[in-house]
Parts: sequence; structure tokens; C-alpha cells
Amino acid sequence: MSAPMAIRYRKHHRLFSQNILHKCRHLLRYLSSSHGKRDYDLVVIGGGSGGLACSKEAAQLGKRVAVLDYVNPSPHDWSGQYGQGYGQGTQWGLGGTCVNVGCIPKKLMHQAALLGHLIEDSRSYGWDVPESVNNDWQKMCGAIQNYIKSLNWGHRVQLKDKNVEYLNALGSFADPHTIRAVDAKGQERVLTTENAVVAVGCRPLLPSQIPGMAEHAVTSDDLFWMKNSPGKTLVIGGSYIALESAGFLTGLGFDTTVMVRSICLRMFDQQMAHLVTDYMENSGTRFLKQCVPVRVEKNGDGKLEVQYQDANGNKDKETFDTVLLAVGRSPVTKQLNLSQIGVDLDDVGKVIGDYDGDHERSSVSHIYAIGDVLHGRPELTPVAIKAGKLLAHRLFGGSQVHMDYDKVPTTVFTPLEYGVVGISEETANVTFGDSNIEVYHAFYVPLEFAIPGRDATQCYIKVICEKGDDGRVLGIHLTGPNAGEIIQGFSVAITCGATWRQLSSSIGIHPTTAEELVKIHITKRSGKDPTVTGC
Ligand code: FAD
Ligand code: NDP
Repeated sequence: MSAPMAIRYRKHHRLFSQNILHKCRHLLRYLSSSHGKRDYDLVVIGGGSGGLACSKEAAQLGKRVAVLDYVNPSPHDWSGQYGQGYGQGTQWGLGGTCVNVGCIPKKLMHQAALLGHLIEDSRSYGWDVPESVNNDWQKMCGAIQNYIKSLNWGHRVQLKDKNVEYLNALGSFADPHTIRAVDAKGQERVLTTENAVVAVGCRPLLPSQIPGMAEHAVTSDDLFWMKNSPGKTLVIGGSYIALESAGFLTGLGFDTTVMVRSICLRMFDQQMAHLVTDYMENSGTRFLKQCVPVRVEKNGDGKLEVQYQDANGNKDKETFDTVLLAVGRSPVTKQLNLSQIGVDLDDVGKVIGDYDGDHERSSVSHIYAIGDVLHGRPELTPVAIKAGKLLAHRLFGGSQVHMDYDKVPTTVFTPLEYGVVGISEETANVTFGDSNIEVYHAFYVPLEFAIPGRDATQCYIKVICEKGDDGRVLGIHLTGPNAGEIIQGFSVAITCGATWRQLSSSIGIHPTTAEELVKIHITKRSGKDPTVTGC
């Protein structure tokens, strides 16, 4: 064979081989997406609390797992405040809401606010502290953001160590077993999978019907990443996020007002909710009750003028530096094509579970949902994590264990903490009837409040039980310092079915706040003064 002929032959041969290879790949993809082996045992869409836990657990069980996480920037345009180049909105890294714009920065700002109170208290304990002590917002945020970035990095490392393939890409379903992943550069990858978990969480609601609101207000997606301090702030909403944010903003020294359209902490025991808001009011947070915003406008000096009206239609207006909207969160399922592939959604777009007796299974049997995106379940990090881990074990570990969504403990950090596990007094009355329950209660003074003479009017404990010594404990409610830490332990007791007899025969640890829970003995029914006196 002549040299030119040999070159032509080799070229032809190479093209032929490439063609065959391409056809083989195509065939493989076809086979895997229809009836052959698929690329993955599990693809998880959403790398937040639930998605990360589920994907890591599944990979530990030896499965081929990928997790997709992609953060669309918040819609807020910062260019007005920070200049050109900041138009894109707030963005963050791997780990989801809790790590980046939720529990973690919130708890750290709560801690910053508590430290402010402690500095005040420290004078009574002999510390020589200057009259005026100020918080440096930029310094605080810098430290918190650095910590968050270390968590983002830690999550990446863990995924790698545990053999989970991580794609920083936006996922959507092409068909029930095929997921399209598009990265920030628009590059697309197609993944076929035996099972899929939807763990995309929620994002803050921005009601578009209030003129100027969507344009000028920030949400919790922005608050923790603001370059400049928020200044005088109006917080709109009356639930967890609104009250917690208002609590730490007040504690950090900002003039803070909460605008509530109805009641605060609707899902909680209302006696406890009032204690929380009374404490906040006594600590300097202002409340505009039964009011709704009507319009937000930016005036000449960059401040936000908010018009609002009360329940009688009376209008008023006030100027703020920042408007923080905390009126609920909505699931980010629109772009996933879930309805198109047969997954049932509720009217706000959350995935309906409970198919075939499995809380997290959707109407398409190999597609599951966990965390905030699952209809009718608490929107809390430990719930998402536990549900994700248990699901992985049911799918790949032969487990039959299901998530127990009852008796989920929680705490509102406002900054006086309100910790709760079990049901409210209202629910107990409706479910069991007033004559079948006993409510024990106590007002107490945390020892650490005594020396600085801090007002303990809102430090209160309520234990709701079925009647009789062997009646089950149905709910424990506590407002006070470290309520979250205390309730975590008592939630184990409630999970184990603790009775009034067991609770009251436990020995306290002195001197603590938690001991008041095992010492509690005065019933509401008795009408006796529930104020704790002496040891
Ligand atoms: P997320 O953590 O929201 O994760 C979902 C991830 O999926 C996100 O990263 C998202 O960007 C990504 N994603 C969305 N769509 C796609 C897609 N199509 N493709 C790829 N990725 C996608 N809970 C507590 O227990 N304690 C607290 O103290 C607490 N404080 C909070 C404070 C605030 C201000 C907020 C907002 C929430 C707080 N929560 C708290 C709630 C907690 O953050 C959530 O319950 C938890 O993060 C839910 O986890 P998840 O996995 O369901 O979703
Ligand atoms: P929620 O859905 O709990 O509450 C929304 C609040 O906004 C309610 O007070 C509601 O009032 C009010 N609201 C709704 N629409 C409007 C409107 N158009 N105008 C004025 N007010 C309005 O939302 P959150 O965003 O506070 O919290 C979301 C979830 O995040 C929580 O359920 C919780 O599970 C989780 N979370 C947990 C925390 C923790 O564990 N410590 C902390 C923060 C969040 P109304 O009652 O009248 O409807």
C-alpha cells in the first residue's frame, strides 16, 4: 500500500471507529434510559439539608449517586445601594438555605445580639464596660460569611469523600428517569437514574401586588449578606423569620418595627406567642399590629417610604432604611417539569407525598420528595435531614423505618428563646377536651437575670399532660435563655412516651433553668399563683 493510500485508509478507519463508538454510546444511552441500566441509582435535585444527607447516606450504602445544587440569585438589585456591578442579587454556595441564608447566619446573629445583652449585664457583675458599646455590622457579617464559606467547602469535601458526584447545575426532569442538568455556562448534561429525590426547598415570597415591594424590599435571602448595616428596619410578617430577624436587629441596636397583619406565631400556643412578643416589645422592638403595607417608594435620599393601613382602613406612612419581607416561602418546583411527568403537586407547588404508605413517595413511584418541598410537613432542617437519611436506608438498605413527623421539637430565637415539643394548649383542648388534660405551669426567674435585675416577666414554663399520674406528657413549652438546648433533651422524653409521673419523679440539676421543668407542680386549674419562689 502506498503512503498516501495508507494515510487515507487510517483516516477512514478512524472515522469509521468514531462513528461506531458514537452509535454505541447512543445505543447505550437509549438502553439505559428505557430498560437497560441507568447511569445512577439515585439522583438528588437540591443540595440543601435534606438533599446532602440523603445523597451521602445512599452513597455510603454503595450506590451510584449524584446531587445537583444550583442557587438562582435573589431578585434584589443592589446596584442602587452599592453601584454598578451589584445588580445581580444575592448568591451563595453549596449547602442550601440553612447553611447560607437560614439557621446558621440567623443563630450567629442571635448570638451577637445576646452578647450585646450580656455586655450590658456584665456591668452588674463588676466588669468595667464603656457606656456605649456598638456592633460593627460589616465585621460581624464578615466573620459569619467566612464561616459559611468554610461550611460550603466542607460540604464539597464530604461529597467527594463519600463518593457522591456533585454537579453545580440546575436540574429538571426530561422524563421520569432522565434529569437534565444545566450549569451556569449553559452546558447541559443528561443523567438517567433509577430513583430521584426532589429536595429543592423553598425561597421567600415577594408579593408583586404591593407597588414597589418586590423592587425595594429585601428578604432573608439578602439580609445576612448585606454589605452595609440595615439601619432603621421595617420587618413585615409575624412568624418565625420576621420575629427572629426583628429580635436580633433590635439586639444589635437597630430601630426595628414589625408589621403584623393578623396574629404572631399562628402555628404556636398563643399564650406562649404573646410572651414572646411582649418580651420583644419590652426590649425595644416596635409592633404595628393588624396592619398591612400598601405601597413602598424610594425617596430622594434613598430611604424607603412605606404606606400602610390598619384593619379599619386608616392609612399612615413612615420612612425606613430597609424593608425586610418575611411573609412566607414558596417551593421552587416550577422549572422541574414535575406535573408534566405525573408528579402531583399541591396548589402552592409542593410535592404531595404519602403514596403507597410512604410519606416521602410521590405519585410517580420512584420519585420522592424531602424537606421544605414536601407538602404538609414542618419546614425545619433536622426534619429534612432525618427524612433524607431514613429514605436512603429504605431505598437501599432494606430498612422499613419511616419518618415520624409528630413531636418535632423547635425553637424560636427571639432573642428570649421559645422552645417547644408536642402540642399547644389549644390543640390539646380540642383533641382531648379540657376535662381530660392537666396543664402545669410556672413563672420563674433565671438565676443569671437576678444580679443585673433583668425583667423575667416572660420566663414561663407550661407542661400539658393527659389527666392522671400516668397520663402522657403531650406538650412542653418554655420561654427563657437557652430554651432550645433544654427542650432538645425533653423531646427525647416525649418521644419515649414520658408520663407526668416520670417527669415529676426526675431529679433536677441545680441551679439551672431546666430543673424548673421537673419541679413544676401547680396546675392552671387550681388557680394558684404559679410564680416559683426559693430553690
Ligand atoms: P434547602 O436547604 O432550601 O435546599 C434546597 C437546595 O436546592 C438549595 O440550595 C437550592 O438552591 C437548590 N435548588 C433549588 N432548585 C434546584 C434545581 N432545580 N436544581 C438544583 N438545585 C436546586 N430550620 C431549623 O431547623 N432551625 C432554624 O433555626 C431555622 N432557621 C431558619 C432561618 C431562616 C431565615 C430560614 C429562611 C429558614 C430557617 N430554617 C430553620 C428552615 C431551614 O433552613 C429549612 O427547613 C431547610 O434548609 C430545608 O432544607 P431542604 O433540604 O428542604 O431545602
Ligand atoms: P410562615 O409561613 O411561617 O409565616 C408567614 C408570616 O407572614 C405569617 O405571619 C403571615 O401572617 C404573614 N404574611 C403572609 N402573607 C402576608 C402578607 N401579604 N402581608 C403581611 N403578612 C403576611 O413563614 P416564615 O417565612 O416566617 O417561615 C417559614 C418557615 O421557615 C417556618 O415555617 C419554619 O418552619 C422555618 N423557620 C424555622 C426557624 C426556626 O426553626 N427557628 C426560623 C425561621 C424559619 P398570617 O398568620 O396572617 O398568615
